[in-house]
Amino acid sequence: MGVMYDPELHRIVPTLRPMAFPTRFAVEVCAECNLACSMCHHPSMKRPKGKMPFELWRKCADEIAALAPRTECWFSFCGEPLLAPERLLEMLAYGKSVGLRSLNINSNGMLLTADLAERILDSGVDLIVFGIDGFTAETFERIRVRAVRDVVYTNVERLLALRRARGQGPEIQIQFIEMDENSHELEAFSEHWLHHGATLKVRNKLSWGGKFDTPLCIPRDDRIPCPWAITMMHVFWDGRVPRCPGDTEGEEGVGNAWDEPLAVLWERLDCYRQHHLNHDFDLLPDRCQTCKDWMTGAAKRIRPSIEKAS
Ligand code: SF4
Ligand code: SF4
Repeated sequence: MGVMYDPELHRIVPTLRPMAFPTRFAVEVCAECNLACSMCHHPSMKRPKGKMPFELWRKCADEIAALAPRTECWFSFCGEPLLAPERLLEMLAYGKSVGLRSLNINSNGMLLTADLAERILDSGVDLIVFGIDGFTAETFERIRVRAVRDVVYTNVERLLALRRARGQGPEIQIQFIEMDENSHELEAFSEHWLHHGATLKVRNKLSWGGKFDTPLCIPRDDRIPCPWAITMMHVFWDGRVPRCPGDTEGEEGVGNAWDEPLAVLWERLDCYRQHHLNHDFDLLPDRCQTCKDWMTGAAKRIRPSIEKAS
């Protein structure tokens, strides 16, 4: 049965408006991954993989700091940033040094050793999101292919304990992408992570530009501007800027962050944003006609004592 209406999604509609600079910026620290998750496009990704040169991040960070230091910078996009821990840490340190206010990590948690956990807490990172998606080993390992449930749980629980011992630290969110395969475990999953002091983030499955089927089927008449396109810019490890996260191979790329200022590249994406905001959806590229990711731009967050959506 498809999901016809998502109240979280309609709650963010008023926030979708013209923006002079993205409010969210995805930085592909490393395009390699140690997992092959069942709902992810990464296992079939064809473009070259590598690690972002520090100099490229320095250029991006300087530009963001000058224009909009509150921009949420997300490490990483397609790939696992803990495969390049030293690069990640130097990027975080540089971001802090130039005054970036929101430095956030996305990780699968497999490589989070005790030493790395301490160094990440020392870095001053603002938010860490772990994609976990399952409570029992059977479910977790069917979805998070090549990960080991007990290793990830131990690593993330240790990070939460270290943060608790320090009495301060970043928000730590545990993400659950709700799917037919795991929805029966959501209650036990929630209880477990809320008990450990984490924030729960529950979201719908992405179609990754229409490559994956999802249970979402919001009627065409209820279509909204794509939140990803309106708010977010992505930079691959080699500097290429795709049109949006659905453009996972960069086939509709608009340029390269090595060559041009981020503000110029963002401006080049403006025609697409106008089509979204004017509800001229028929004028959007073919990918937008089949992609369902405009339905997935909102997540539900449950904190140990309060509930919030954004
Ligand atoms: S860990 Fe992340 S990037 Fe890697 S396969 Fe899983 S979802 Fe994709
Ligand atoms: S709906 Fe269009 S803009 Fe949004 S992610 Fe999909 S292809 Fe990209």
